[in-house]
Amino acid sequence: MTDLISRDKEYIWHPFTQHKTECEPIALSHAKDASLFDVDGNEIIDLISSWWTITHGHSHPAINDAMMDQANKMSHVMFSGFTHEPAVQIAESLSHHLGGNLSKIFFSDNGSTSVEVALKVAYQYWQNKGEAQRTNFIAFDGAYHGDTFGAMAVGKGSGFFTSFDELLCQVHTVPYGETWLGDNEVQTREDTAITALQKTIDQHGDTIAAIIMEPLFQGAGGMKFCRPEFVKRVVETARAAGILVIFDEIATGFGRTGSLFAHQQCDVKPDMICLSKGLTAGTLPLSVTVIDAHIFDAFLGDDFSKALAHGHSFTGNPLACSIANRSLALFEEEQTLERIRAIEASHQEFAQELLSHSKVKHVRVCGSLLAFDIDEGDKGAEGSYKSETSLKLRDFFLAEGLNIRPLGPVVYLMPPYSITNEQLKQGYEGLLKGLELV
Ligand SMILES: *Cc1c(COP(=O)(O)O)cnc(C)c1O
Repeated sequence: MTDLISRDKEYIWHPFTQHKTECEPIALSHAKDASLFDVDGNEIIDLISSWWTITHGHSHPAINDAMMDQANKMSHVMFSGFTHEPAVQIAESLSHHLGGNLSKIFFSDNGSTSVEVALKVAYQYWQNKGEAQRTNFIAFDGAYHGDTFGAMAVGKGSGFFTSFDELLCQVHTVPYGETWLGDNEVQTREDTAITALQKTIDQHGDTIAAIIMEPLFQGAGGMKFCRPEFVKRVVETARAAGILVIFDEIATGFGRTGSLFAHQQCDVKPDMICLSKGLTAGTLPLSVTVIDAHIFDAFLGDDFSKALAHGHSFTGNPLACSIANRSLALFEEEQTLERIRAIEASHQEFAQELLSHSKVKHVRVCGSLLAFDIDEGDKGAEGSYKSETSLKLRDFFLAEGLNIRPLGPVVYLMPPYSITNEQLKQGYEGLLKGLELV
């Protein structure tokens, strides 16, 4: 272990890491189902699905087989001027699942770029339509959409990107109508948020290209949950002003909220959807921006000027697409949504215990997610993403064999769906023990 760590230290710059103060990383040798194993053989239960990517569990045999099969046929090919079965198949399946006119699939290779594509498509759509004044976007307080420049701009409400403020394009932010268990004021909070949205639209409406939203829960910005009713009202309010609606389902997609896609619980359809993370069951980088056919049509023309100038080297990678196909089939074969319902029921039961805990507030459950805020009273360590308390808790959980990483004062579980009831119970017990340290 020590050799690997010292070599790591010499050459690696890790993501979202303050290298001066944070602990050394843990050297892993393999992962199976809901567990990670370090090089000394210790097991760590992956209660946050490795940054929310793993769906059916680590190293699923069916996924591995699909990857090997495709590797023996064709691992990669450029995607301009060529096409292949895995890409066409996943595009067809996604578009059938999503319904309506959501039938044009643009591939890229991570969540941030799928957001960039959505923003660029929205922006150019209005140019192509002769409404070039629509150059701005609306996003939510607490939203996170990735780390590239467009994604940072619409995710400035997350608070992660203040160093880059001056370089970010113009975005109007509005409140997210968040809620939690036992919340009696949700209606007022939603009304206030919708009023703020309406006011922004009244002031700037004809300059807005699109609004981008994480439906049902906001991820990295603090695991804030909202009701389906709120999502619906946001869409209706934006649509009434002719504004395009983009759903970022990079975290909420592929079962996390209890349905295959979160917006399926909200009785609305967006104009574009960004998907990544669980798309490949968390095994290879792949993302898509799903686009309504009427938007696609606005990019047609007799020369290149109206076309979308965007494409990555690994666009539509066949290996990743073949895994995405296999993963989608597994949702039916293994009745994954049933399993997610069982995880949700288990979370609900544990939530009842948390509701009366003196150091806990704003308990919330949605599908396979359980989240709460640590109530530190006047001690005030709340707020910062890597507060002292959150780092202390993270290290404590790891020492207990649990991969749980609080986001500032927010503690959450988002396990792979293959987690066993026994492992879930270990997670809950670990959470309660951790709370004693606060
Ligand atoms: C993770 C995430 C992204 C960014 O995806 P990357 O693959 O990390 O670039 C964007 N939006 C949401 C909601 C996410 O959770």
